[in-house]
Amino acid sequence: MQSIDDLEVQGKVVLVRSDLNTPLETSPDGAVSITDDGRIRAALPTISDLAARGARVVVMSHLGRPEGQVVPRLSLQPVAVRLGELLNAPVAFSPSTVGEQAQGVVAGLADGQVALLENLRFTEAETSKDDAARGAFADQLALLADIYVGDGFGVSHRKHASVYDIALRLPHAAGRLIASEVSVLQRLTRGDERPYVVVLGGSKVSDKLGVIETFLGKADRILIGGGMVYTFLAAMGYGVGSSLLEPDLVEQCRGYIAQAQSMGVDLVLPTDIVVADRFAGDAESTVVGVAAIPNDWMGLDIGPESAQKFAGALSDAATVFWNGPMGVFEFDAFASGTRAVAQAMASSSAFTVVGGGDSAAAVRHLGFADEQFGYISTGGGASLEYLEGRELPGLSVLEDKA
Ligand code: ADP
Ligand code: MG
Repeated sequence: MQSIDDLEVQGKVVLVRSDLNTPLETSPDGAVSITDDGRIRAALPTISDLAARGARVVVMSHLGRPEGQVVPRLSLQPVAVRLGELLNAPVAFSPSTVGEQAQGVVAGLADGQVALLENLRFTEAETSKDDAARGAFADQLALLADIYVGDGFGVSHRKHASVYDIALRLPHAAGRLIASEVSVLQRLTRGDERPYVVVLGGSKVSDKLGVIETFLGKADRILIGGGMVYTFLAAMGYGVGSSLLEPDLVEQCRGYIAQAQSMGVDLVLPTDIVVADRFAGDAESTVVGVAAIPNDWMGLDIGPESAQKFAGALSDAATVFWNGPMGVFEFDAFASGTRAVAQAMASSSAFTVVGGGDSAAAVRHLGFADEQFGYISTGGGASLEYLEGRELPGLSVLEDKA
């Protein structure tokens, strides 16, 4: 991939696709505030580098899922304000993504100035499955700029107009965020620093089949917790009460257990579980052995013995990849397993990577600093697809010379 270092940008209009899909909160009086500006911060190195080199930087992003409609509460305007604060420079905002209004905003930029376009997904064509519709939108976006820089790693697995089609129309390069995400993923794919330990959790096993299969062929040890563990426990013949269970996948999990055994991969499952009488932060809860989950109770976290066992299984690791919380960390009562894994990774000297939107949110929510980990990926789905060896349209299109 070409890097932005290879580009001559002075005086040029550079259209940057970032992923500024930031969680927003609307107060009862209608004021919108940003609850986590992590993705805006992650986009800064590319934007400020281009601006410092005299480019006229036009940033574009999506926000939420407006599905082709103009949804005022999903406007990127508050993000433009925050971006300006972080850059310490004004950011012009264009209420349209394309057309005369957007062209006017771009024409008003001096060298080194930055503008942000309104939510790309207000236009249906952005995410359309129809190549011609996406292409026509990309044509209009391309009219705004001289150069395209792809830097929205979190959307690089999507064949969207602003991620894929646009790169076919303009000279292009990969931004700093994509470059660093890819170098981390390449290191994880090589996987030559061992022991290689993978921690998997989150809600559903069906979301993670590809990752499990990938790491059965790569990791030395796989630790499983979170909601997906109950399908594994069912595969071992345990009753799981009213825990999250995907009955159709029990057989497949039994296959993974056998496969791990035959391939010499250490599959580590919890030995105790924190069960609750309902799905709530103030539910009645207790710790039971995996063989003793009561009928009407649901497992919402791994137990303290398991947390200790997982921490131990991480202690000699040289590479750790973690995707998916160990329990319902959003409720304090069920955050201990997730905290134990985060703590073990934070105090480890291994190369530690946190992937997955909720996992990244979990470590921050629990008070860990980003610097305590080797890398916190900004892209959940995109990271997993990369690790599964799938082709990401938003990356491969940047590899082709324009
Ligand atoms: P990521 O975004 O990091 O890939 P997922 O989206 O797969 O993670 O899963 C995150 C969600 O899984 C969290 O919201 C968490 O509450 C939920 N979860 C974890 N453990 C359980 C459980 N035992 N039962 C139900 N949900 C769970
Ligand atoms: Mg998630």
